[in-house]
Amino acid sequence: MTDACGACQGTWPREDHFITDLGSSKVYLHDDQFFPGWTVVVFQRHATELFQLAPTERFQLIEEVSRVAKTLAEIYQAKKINYELLGNQLPHIHWHLIPRLANDPAPLEPVWRVPHSPLLLTGATLHEAITRLACPLRMAR
Ligand SMILES: [Zn+2]
Repeated sequence: MTDACGACQGTWPREDHFITDLGSSKVYLHDDQFFPGWTVVVFQRHATELFQLAPTERFQLIEEVSRVAKTLAEIYQAKKINYELLGNQLPHIHWHLIPRLANDPAPLEPVWRVPHSPLLLTGATLHEAITRLACPLRMAR
């Protein structure tokens, strides 16, 4: 844990977007749902690079990322899942998992390159999107 890290401090991702805890990672619905189902998987402890993890930690993390990706693919009928492990802005291992759907506005581009206004969910719509993923993810444990 570091004082400067938003993931360690719990300031990002937003707690009201929490979906479930998979053991070595926590899963959140991303703030921006312009791409429906955009999910963030955050490693439980502070590390910035995959090579810093013990092999068993890395294995478990990849298993959890794969489980979330499979769930997203099924729930959203995705044509492809994008896996983004960047960390330039927040250097704490976290994956952006983004279902790319049949009606994707720019199927050949990474989401970061698609200009759009963020789609922020609130209230019942946010709750429904979280529950839709939380139930299958918890059952798969
Ligand atoms: Zn951290």
